[in-house]
Amino acid sequence: MITRYGATRDELQNLLTTEPRYRIDQVWTGLYSELSTPEEMTALPKTLRAHLTDLLPNSLLLVEQIVSDDDTTIKFLWELDGGSRIETVLMLYPDRATVCVSTQAGCAMGCGFCATGQAGFTRHLTAGEIVEQIVRAAQHAKGMGRRVSNVVYMGMGEPLANEEPVWESIVRIHDDLGLSARHLTVSTVGIVPGINRLASRPLPVNLAVSLHAANDSLRDALVPINRRYPIKALMEACSNFLESKNRRLTFEWALISEVNDKPSDAIELAQLCRSFRVPAHVNLIPLNPTPGYSVKGSSRNHVQAFCDQLVSMGANATVRRNRGTDIAAACGQLAAGQPVQITRSK
Ligand code: SAH
Ligand code: SF4
Repeated sequence: MITRYGATRDELQNLLTTEPRYRIDQVWTGLYSELSTPEEMTALPKTLRAHLTDLLPNSLLLVEQIVSDDDTTIKFLWELDGGSRIETVLMLYPDRATVCVSTQAGCAMGCGFCATGQAGFTRHLTAGEIVEQIVRAAQHAKGMGRRVSNVVYMGMGEPLANEEPVWESIVRIHDDLGLSARHLTVSTVGIVPGINRLASRPLPVNLAVSLHAANDSLRDALVPINRRYPIKALMEACSNFLESKNRRLTFEWALISEVNDKPSDAIELAQLCRSFRVPAHVNLIPLNPTPGYSVKGSSRNHVQAFCDQLVSMGANATVRRNRGTDIAAACGQLAAGQPVQITRSK
């Protein structure tokens, strides 16, 4: 089925064979530059607008929209064709607006601390479903007088396990929505061949690698795919990624109390980066609690001490604010049907 943001320009042309070429351009500009629905494309004749609404249906049905206490984080829960549910989060900062997108309904990677991993895999998202998440969030931002500037592939699912649709969506976001590749970040659990292919793709997007452990025995336990792609192979792929021009790399590290938050863990991480000459930026975030994982996130003091230890060893690290904890904005928590404390629902 052809959907509103799944259709390529050629497919749109084929749907509207009797229309002159400039009409196709108008529709394309309406969809991507103006973020308009067909009904809002007032430059088009009324009959064509109605026809387009039928020809190009949305692929995401809004189930719920939740706004954080301070109005800066908006979470969308969508239902897909087939009934599965996914999430998108819009985060408004003073200097930028970031959309966090899902790439799969569920995930097959089985990381025990992650709500999406606990739910298991349902299906891949299409490029159209990924692009539409950004457009729908951007329409919301536009209503608040804001423009989406950044996209992070850090929602539900593993982007590099759904590579082609993810890449197709990146090209669409870059070419048609007009975002720069430097403002797009793909987050991966560490699929080595996928990282190598990403390094050779033409658009220099940023990469975030969810490391969480700097030795194989701990990483095997936290991130099962490490058994297939152990740390040495992962670090070599990261180094290769950095060598291809203009790319930025970050390591994600969810701090889990007494599991990976000790000074010795920070020292091991700093040494790992040094020995593989991978000058990555480390993003530290205390683990968000999920019902399927009994261990807690680290205390604020532990997080800061871990950060200070890394910095003292010459590594680059920042503590990330836990955005939207009050609306369960961590990966997959809402779609997994967890009881969430909803402060305000719109
Ligand atoms: N599959 C990709 C992208 C989606 S997960 C990946 O793993 O990178 C996005 C990020 O959320 C990852 O860094 C993941 O490790 C992290 N994450 C998952 N569950 C979390 C939790 N309960 N608390 C904090 N971070 C979590
Ligand atoms: Fe999948 Fe990422 Fe969650 Fe692991 S952390 S289960 S790879 S979504």
